[in-house]
Amino acid sequence: MKTALFILALSLVPFAAGAEPHPVEIHTRLASPIGADKKVALTLDACSGKYDDDLIEFLIQNRIPATIFATKKWLDKNPHGLSVIKAHLDLFDVENHGEKHIPAIIGTDRNVYGIPGEPDVVHLRREVVEGARAVEKATGIAPHWYRDATGEYDPQAIQEIDKLGYKIAGFSVNADQGATAKKAAIEKRLEKVMPGDVIIAHMNKPASDSAEGLAVGLSYLLKAGFVFVRLDQVDLQLIPEKAPKKSP
Ligand SMILES: [Zn+2]
Repeated sequence: MKTALFILALSLVPFAAGAEPHPVEIHTRLASPIGADKKVALTLDACSGKYDDDLIEFLIQNRIPATIFATKKWLDKNPHGLSVIKAHLDLFDVENHGEKHIPAIIGTDRNVYGIPGEPDVVHLRREVVEGARAVEKATGIAPHWYRDATGEYDPQAIQEIDKLGYKIAGFSVNADQGATAKKAAIEKRLEKVMPGDVIIAHMNKPASDSAEGLAVGLSYLLKAGFVFVRLDQVDLQLIPEKAPKKSP
């Protein structure tokens, strides 16, 4: 029921008839009531690229659970990283980030941040279904959450992903800006985390500052009494868009 409402809210995003649909960036937080235990979720995207050994080892040493969004591309290219994750499935939940890391927007010549979307719905379905199959084949566990390449989704794509049986994982705190943020900026962003937040960061760029910034920021959150949960243990709720500020 909650999922149905979530999808309804997302698909009501207006767009002018005849115009190209406007993609929505999906922001979510934990749906469970916020108690004294200050729950937060750490999600890590494994888009393509490499395995950030320092980051995963830090999480293992500090017993910090995380939800990993992996593409088939990443899983195929990083057998060592996958073996470490598989040895710690008590900490890590692996979910679906697609087959080839393509944004969930539909239409030729459309793109998000320069990354081309899908030519049609058939290709979108393939991206989602093959991504899920790759995760299940790699870990033995079928995923239930989907996150596309850029966090932006067409209303039609949102409905298709729902029909395929996957919940869309948004986020509320962008910790590393696609693994481009510097260490100090990552620390600052994590200092502002509130109970119920869903943090997004990246584990596919070991040369970035992500591992270093997250190590400091996550240690701070642990000391501040935050408890990390995985998405297979909770549900998410949509954060309504703020009304645009009126121009003076
Ligand atoms: Zn990604």
